[in-house]
Amino acid sequence: MGCRAWFDQGLYMTIYALVDCNNFYASCERVFNPKLEGRPVVILSSNDGCAIARSNEAKECGVKMAQPLYQFTDIVKKHDVQVLSGNFHLYTDMSNRVMQVLADMAPETQPYSIDECFLDITGIPDDLDEYCLKVQTKVRQWMVVRTGRRQISMAPYLINR
Ligand SMILES: [Mg+2]
Repeated sequence: MGCRAWFDQGLYMTIYALVDCNNFYASCERVFNPKLEGRPVVILSSNDGCAIARSNEAKECGVKMAQPLYQFTDIVKKHDVQVLSGNFHLYTDMSNRVMQVLADMAPETQPYSIDECFLDITGIPDDLDEYCLKVQTKVRQWMVVRTGRRQISMAPYLINR
């Protein structure tokens, strides 16, 4: 029995979904620089001291979260890791876009962090997998950034379900 059927019979419980964007800062950078796609990417803290975000490729190379840059310079050289200063205005703007899309998809949302948000989806989806895919698809569709005459879509790596 799906969630909708339970809800219709009064057999419902509160259901929350948690949306957590993947490697958010690195994903935001890739939207504006597609050459970063498929390459190891590390975003540094505001003083360029430590790794605060890593693409999956950078994680596979061995860069640790919060690791000081001086400790992984060998990894950077060996794997041609793209090391970027954090652009926190960009990440905040992109986060606001994601949160707006999510707010349109559930009656109650509660942003939890820059890339995480709880959605109260009680009684909404009949099929949770289908609903999650719908959220994922809509975020991708709406995260379109116009840069001159080009359109770059927020890539599929942005959001998990
Ligand atoms: Mg995340």
